[in-house]
Amino acid sequence: MATPTKSILITGAGLVGSLLSIYLRRRGYEVSIYERRGDMRKETVEAGRSINLALSDRGIKALQGVGIAEEVLQIAIPMHGRHLHQPDGSHAFQPYGKEGQYINSVSRHELNCKLLDLAEREGVHLHFHQRCDHVNWKKKEVHFAGPNETSTVPFDLLFGADGAYSATRLSHMLQHQKFDYQQYYIDCGYKELSIPAGAAGAFQLEKNALHIWPRGNYMLIALPNLDGSFTGTLFFPFEGETSFERLKTEADVEAFFRQTFPDLVPLVPDLARQFFHNPTSSLVTVKCFPWVRGDHFALIGDAAHAIVPFFGQGMNAGFEDCTVLAELMEQWGDDWEPILAEYQALRKPDGDAIADLAINNFTEMRARTADPKFLLQKKIEAWVHESHPDQWIPAYSQVTFSPHIRYSEALRNSQRQEAIMQEVMKDPDIAENWKREDVKERILAALRG
Ligand SMILES: Cc1cc2nc3c(=O)[nH]c(=O)nc-3n(C[C@H](O)[C@H](O)[C@H](O)COP(=O)(O)OP(=O)(O)OC[C@H]3O[C@@H](n4cnc5c(N)ncnc54)[C@H](O)[C@@H]3O)c2cc1C
Repeated sequence: MATPTKSILITGAGLVGSLLSIYLRRRGYEVSIYERRGDMRKETVEAGRSINLALSDRGIKALQGVGIAEEVLQIAIPMHGRHLHQPDGSHAFQPYGKEGQYINSVSRHELNCKLLDLAEREGVHLHFHQRCDHVNWKKKEVHFAGPNETSTVPFDLLFGADGAYSATRLSHMLQHQKFDYQQYYIDCGYKELSIPAGAAGAFQLEKNALHIWPRGNYMLIALPNLDGSFTGTLFFPFEGETSFERLKTEADVEAFFRQTFPDLVPLVPDLARQFFHNPTSSLVTVKCFPWVRGDHFALIGDAAHAIVPFFGQGMNAGFEDCTVLAELMEQWGDDWEPILAEYQALRKPDGDAIADLAINNFTEMRARTADPKFLLQKKIEAWVHESHPDQWIPAYSQVTFSPHIRYSEALRNSQRQEAIMQEVMKDPDIAENWKREDVKERILAALRG
């Protein structure tokens, strides 16, 4: 392979920008990353979003591509299923998939630091406290604002990896015609609450599970950390009868949690303090097009496709962008026009699909988990899956454990499954008759047909 001459600039040293830089460097490019915040390995930087994340097969595949998956999995905690906490204090465990299928709780900070370390070792030039201000597309240069001065940096190829509120994308949008942009906030926000470790670093909840307290139109989840603590996230409406705006005093918060999450309260002594101290953040979906321009510009990660976190896929999707780019570089070498065109053709439908799947999951959780008919439908689906695991694959498994199935395919499959189940649920006696072989056969025949 001849040494490529292009110099590549990436805005954003988050999870996706850092991983992308390693892939590019491995192909011999000069790569520089410019990051708005300080170096998180040396300074305390503002926490950003979610303290820990669920890393699943698509993300792991991308990390394997640069040989860092094993190292990352050593700092991850396997979560084999959902541990459900009901309002009456009862518990239930639902495995995620087949035996041996699990997702991994990993610290965002630790993962990002590992990627930055590797990027630096590979020779990526890292620049911190450099905020992308705007791009001069004619001259192919980016203007950055530093703490005391501004700078202008030329590029041959620019990747915007600067997250959901990407300034690079904004500059692209403002200066190029026919840029489609859609941004959608859900009416729920989120707040993180730490559940500390017990005595001698003991886990106060089952360690190897993702804990969920489902409560109709809101929920709390918790993922384990290596030090024995859990990071809880309350997904909660901003406004309305039960909402952030209604919890005004520490007494309100304590009473609400005692009533709604009774088994959680004894585990978090400073719950009310945390509630008012920790920020409330919003959840946005961003869809846009085009993601690329000629042979010299592309959006990647959240900058291209920010999604709500109800499938645990935002980072995994951004990492998968890197896998796809790596495959295209293998195919096209240094010829970036077809690489970027194919990257967009492949990833835009998949970005849209995972955004829709994530929103559907949110709406479903809210609207339907208290509906007995919906619960029956899910029970039937689980029963069919149990006896025919290779034919009826739940959407969650397709997304989480099947990197060979594209997100767009998983969305189509899940819509087809839903249509089949809607027909089955029309049977007025389904509640009595569902566990019959002929019902199962009907479902499988519809799936095959
Ligand atoms: C509550 C919550 C829970 C989540 N849970 C999961 C999960 O379990 N699994 C999962 O896969 N995903 C999850 N996600 C999604 C995940 O956080 C994102 O998809 C992921 O962080 C995207 O990575 P990124 O590098 O594209 O963007 P970011 O992580 O946002 O990184 C962007 C980087 O760009 C920098 N930057 C921003 N503006 C500029 C600028 N103007 N100039 C220079 N630099 C700039 C930022 O400082 C940052 O370092 C969750 C998200 C939320 C909100």
